[in-house]
Amino acid sequence: MNPIGHLGIVLSVFGFVVFGLVARDETRAAKIVVVTALPMGLAPDIDLRITQLAHRGLTHTIWAAFLAGGVLALVAFRFEPLALAGKGEETFYGFVTGFGGICCHLAGDVITPMGIKPLYPLLEKPHTFDLVYASNQSANLALLVFGVITFQIAVQQARIADPVPAYTLGFVHRDLGFESESGTDIET
Ligand SMILES: [Zn+2]
Repeated sequence: MNPIGHLGIVLSVFGFVVFGLVARDETRAAKIVVVTALPMGLAPDIDLRITQLAHRGLTHTIWAAFLAGGVLALVAFRFEPLALAGKGEETFYGFVTGFGGICCHLAGDVITPMGIKPLYPLLEKPHTFDLVYASNQSANLALLVFGVITFQIAVQQARIADPVPAYTLGFVHRDLGFESESGTDIET
């Protein structure tokens, strides 16, 4: 697809990816994830600008997705840009942003007649669902509109979702009204 179609797919998928973050009011982290995933969803087409690379070759493979996921996981682990509770979650979202962003791109290209070779160079045979030409403007626009709408709905639902069940909100320190008469209470 062309860039607007790819961006549409990233938006529609990442609305759900950041659902848990938005529900927990980690809005800043959610924004960083989405803003990073968008260029990831375009990145494989860099092969159009590098003459040494065949179009829809190595950059359009599952290996490229793992590489992008691995690099972003490392960056997230090292620098904790999302400011989440732990390194584990940082690394998880780092990986998902890179891996998911590239996979969204692959999803956009596998529906075109030219298809992709996701396991290249292990398997040279292209895979395609042959649904629509990459240059089809209405299809690209439809993907963008679909992406914006699903993203909007997912984020809206996340905002009204109850992130933490009430019973896990911690102890309720009730004043039971007993006065200690033993004199053994330790002031803390
Ligand atoms: Zn592509």
